[in-house]
Amino acid sequence: MSNSSLVDVVIKSPNCDSPRNDTIQGITIHHMADVLTVEECGESFANPERKASSNYGIDSDGKVGLYVDEADRPWTSGNAENDNKTITIEVSNSEAGGEWPVSDTAYDKLIDLCVDICQRNNIKELNYTGDLSGNLYIHKMFQATSCPGPFLESRMPDIANKVNERLGSQENGEQGISVDYQVQLNEGKRWLPVVRNQNDYAGLVGMEIIGIAIKVSKGYAQYRVHDADGWYGMIDTRNTNIDDFQNGYAGNNKPIDALEIYYYTPDEIINNTGYKKAVYRVSPVNGEYFDWQHDNETGNGQDGYAGAFGMPLDRVQIVIE
Ligand SMILES: [Zn+2]
Repeated sequence: MSNSSLVDVVIKSPNCDSPRNDTIQGITIHHMADVLTVEECGESFANPERKASSNYGIDSDGKVGLYVDEADRPWTSGNAENDNKTITIEVSNSEAGGEWPVSDTAYDKLIDLCVDICQRNNIKELNYTGDLSGNLYIHKMFQATSCPGPFLESRMPDIANKVNERLGSQENGEQGISVDYQVQLNEGKRWLPVVRNQNDYAGLVGMEIIGIAIKVSKGYAQYRVHDADGWYGMIDTRNTNIDDFQNGYAGNNKPIDALEIYYYTPDEIINNTGYKKAVYRVSPVNGEYFDWQHDNETGNGQDGYAGAFGMPLDRVQIVIE
């Protein structure tokens, strides 16, 4: 798991849990309730007695501080579940009190950082609902605090809009290709419910997978799996019959340890928005996710497939983008 390349200053805080116990699904915004540089904020979080931290800080000059690696859970929101599944950001105020404003420079950098976090963690869009049903949060949702102050709180919908424009989520909404997939567990040979895109993952933590079935809404993909006996032949997503043991899904009643997917983009989509790829990742039983893979590409840390031979899988996530 990576950190943002926007970071200017690194001051690690001991106030965290390593590693985080959930996948990164959103962002939680805070204000410093003070006018601080990222160095000053970092020095405060470096004090173990403070028992507080955040992943990132942004100051009024737009400098970004890294205090807790994204792989770890910061102590920011007074809520372990939230801090395990989001990246937390502390933004300096440009003046103390009143509406607790932040500078334009800090605000712009906050948008940049949110976009970067979403892109690297494959978060398709930020959704601010004002409650816990979205994936963009503010501190006061979790504790009796006014954090992040009236200025930032009133701008949360604007932050989500600006980030989503940059992520191109509206374009994806119109041109989007959805992928539906499900897995079969070794235990009881039962199939779990279908999952769409990265709304969830397919699998149960700790349970070996012996079958994977995939279908896409436009174009088609081919996929294959690996187990102790090696790689099997390619399955075509246009065959969606999981009762067809030969060609309807990938797997041969043995724990699967690797998955390869290749997406074939239809001409109309190539002409409109260019080639799309299968983007997917898996985790070994009771382990952390391995890196995202793009089709069967190698290089840039990609293996051409997701998984590690000899380590059965328990979770799968797939999107087409
Ligand atoms: Zn806060």
